[in-house]
Amino acid sequence: MTSTDIIKLIDEYKNSNIKQQAMLEKKYGKRQMQTIQKYLTTEYLQDNAKRCPKCRSFISKTEGCNKMTCRNCQSFFCWLCNNQIHGYEHFNTVDSPCYGLLFEGLETENAMDYENAVDNFIMDNINQYLENFNV
Ligand SMILES: [Zn+2]
Ligand SMILES: [Zn+2]
Repeated sequence: MTSTDIIKLIDEYKNSNIKQQAMLEKKYGKRQMQTIQKYLTTEYLQDNAKRCPKCRSFISKTEGCNKMTCRNCQSFFCWLCNNQIHGYEHFNTVDSPCYGLLFEGLETENAMDYENAVDNFIMDNINQYLENFNV
């Protein structure tokens, strides 16, 4: 396997459903796929993405405001306080902790897209990763 193959495989695994992932595990070996899974949830990503308060899947901040939608369970939450919310009233209600902060922190450079974070991380660490992969 070349590094390109592995990146492709990581990508494939990342975009697969549970059934497809099980097939990949059969094909490439569960241990190798577990390495990939571990790789996709490194501390680096935990620092750059947040988890949905409801389903715990990783969320990236791709849109302008702090009202976030989980791609997995479609629930809304607040990027700032990481609480599940119902809508914009979280930012419009005076007694809310995030009143007036709908667009707060937009200039932050930490607002990194999860997909890009994964790709950058893979590219930065591909050599180290290849060692772990037993190619
Ligand atoms: Zn969710
Ligand atoms: Zn909030």
